[in-house]
Amino acid sequence: MLLLSGIADYVVIGEGEEPFYKIITSIVNNENVDNIIGVKTLSNIYNLDTFSQNMNLEDLPTPDYSDIDLNLFNPKLISVYSNRGCPFRCHFCSEHSLFGKKFKRERALKKFIYDMKILYEKHNINTFSISDSLINSSNQWLEEFF
Ligand code: SF4
Repeated sequence: MLLLSGIADYVVIGEGEEPFYKIITSIVNNENVDNIIGVKTLSNIYNLDTFSQNMNLEDLPTPDYSDIDLNLFNPKLISVYSNRGCPFRCHFCSEHSLFGKKFKRERALKKFIYDMKILYEKHNINTFSISDSLINSSNQWLEEFF
């Protein structure tokens, strides 16, 4: 819909960090974006094999919000995550479709806490929305976190 109506030039299906980076670098380098996994354009809209998933969360850097005016956010709340993926199939839920059926990919607790620490120290963010697929998947993780 977004592509056909002309509202968007690109749609990322699945996990966006890597495809979004590749879209930007392709545009900067004047390259075609149609073959980037996870990216839909008007040219490849009917291809079924472009789905970005199963990134290694340990490879992702701490998000950099320095070019964004976080004062525009009301409430001043940022999403953070420590895991993606779920082995279950609840009918109302899209987590396993979006983030994979494997159990599960995690970001190390140390990095997860560092992500929040940076947001607090640099941007005075003290409210976080934890966007994990499953918050209660590991008792050990929860005990260490709390
Ligand atoms: S994330 Fe939760 S609601 Fe969604 S499929 Fe897994 S167990 Fe079910």
